[in-house]
Amino acid sequence: MIELVHEPVTVHALINGEKVDTKDKITRENPSNPSEIVGYAPLNTKEDTVRAIDAADEAFKTWRNSSLEERIERMERAIKKLRDSEKEITELLSREHGKPVYDSGGELYVSLAWMEHACKTAKDVIGDDVREDENGTTIIKHDPIGVVSAIAPWNYPISLSTIKVAPALLAGNTIVVKPSPLAPLAVTVVLDIIAEEFPPGVVNVLNGEAEVGIELTSNPKVMKIAFTGGTETGRKIMEAAAPTVKELTLELGGNDPAIMLPSFDPNDEKAMRRLVVSNFLTAGEICMIAKRIYVPRSMHDLFVEKYIEAANKWVRVGDPFNSDVTLGPVNNKKQKDYVQELVDDAKANGAEIHKLGEILDPELFEKGYFMQPTLVVGAKQEDRIVKEEQFGPTVPIIAYDDVDEAVQLANDSIFGLTSSVWGDDQEAIEVAARIEAGTTMINTAAIQGLDVRYEFGGVKQSGVGREYGEQGLKSYVNIHIINNPNTKDLPHIPE
Ligand code: NAD
Repeated sequence: MIELVHEPVTVHALINGEKVDTKDKITRENPSNPSEIVGYAPLNTKEDTVRAIDAADEAFKTWRNSSLEERIERMERAIKKLRDSEKEITELLSREHGKPVYDSGGELYVSLAWMEHACKTAKDVIGDDVREDENGTTIIKHDPIGVVSAIAPWNYPISLSTIKVAPALLAGNTIVVKPSPLAPLAVTVVLDIIAEEFPPGVVNVLNGEAEVGIELTSNPKVMKIAFTGGTETGRKIMEAAAPTVKELTLELGGNDPAIMLPSFDPNDEKAMRRLVVSNFLTAGEICMIAKRIYVPRSMHDLFVEKYIEAANKWVRVGDPFNSDVTLGPVNNKKQKDYVQELVDDAKANGAEIHKLGEILDPELFEKGYFMQPTLVVGAKQEDRIVKEEQFGPTVPIIAYDDVDEAVQLANDSIFGLTSSVWGDDQEAIEVAARIEAGTTMINTAAIQGLDVRYEFGGVKQSGVGREYGEQGLKSYVNIHIINNPNTKDLPHIPE
């Protein structure tokens, strides 16, 4: 068995360029082996949060006047340093989170791809634009908004922080970032590396519980909130933001459907593997994972058989540092218990539960927050496992009679983040247009179909606004029109 014990690491808060210690700490355990402490993060308070916001507010007075060229240069230096620290970052992420090392590498890869893309496109998207014609001259300025609060969840701590930090800084804002206490370490290392390249107070980092988040979302000096997390927390944040009318980007929960069309071939092993990956990557703890599969009734039994075959090949549960492993433990006990509750509920309602894949190290499996992935066959649309966001290694299959019904069932959700349609490309594209979601992927799903060049976000209760793409930069600026019309007087106004 691979040795899991390492010296615990300690990360600090960063306020106005200074590393700040706290008396009380967050202790982060290793989800593969909870008796091992991976490290400590500060447990910041409301007072620390006020200080960080004040520092960001003060730094904004100067930083707002920096040129876009300077901001891009600084960000590019940070990207280079992150690349140089890739191994250290991904291994720490795997230890504290539970995702296998290849998966942590994937998270860092996506984070850097977006940061690079944001640098590359910033001038075109948020550079000032001057328009001259017979009506006069108009300058479309993209002003920074001010102090931004960025709050991230535990499942993709690095990418869901850098998705906010990169555009916020490129646009000339200052920022206070709060990662989740369930994965605070690697992301704090990443944010420290970025912060080093910027003047003090431009990037501030706090760790802690809701107390920090509540101040970050209600303090009058904060002008914009960029939040990724659960829908319930998103509702609270909307309320907190209302008295001072803050700008909001909210990336919330999802319950993403995958519709298998009658033209889908269950014998297509590659497609089936992509589907399995889109259900179980990161042990299913992804907002945009395919969380319910709709299959034509006539194909159902063959589909289940082929799905199980494909899953048994790909799913290998174990130590995140074992290169044969595809799924590590669930990140925390509460999440594991919740997923188990949904599976038990489906079973009690008559569904069949099929365990998938292989457990590589049974001894370790018993120690950590591991779960053997399950396929839930015979679930009904009204079952909790179909209605709620599982956010873990289980997926239900629901039979449908015709494509109209499949579309209706897919749209029958308070959520609308991503979705996928599988089968003949052209037919799938036509069906995709009928799905209520921010993204619909064809013959692939989840991160496999993500493209940072294009907008990502949800409809309905999956969120407000978009990240990535042009909108992912534009949502960090105020458009300021400076208009110098040739005709200053309007012809229809009497003398
Ligand atoms: P969460 O909502 O519990 O916590 C997210 C963050 O908000 C944490 O940092 C937490 O400390 C903080 N927080 C808690 N209460 C707060 C409050 N009252 N005010 C301000 N901040 C507060 O979410 P989680 O359990 O960390 O993450 C899982 C959820 O995130 C899932 O629902 C998942 O779908 C969602 N998610 C969405 C996306 C997306 O892009 N749409 C991406 C990843 C995860």
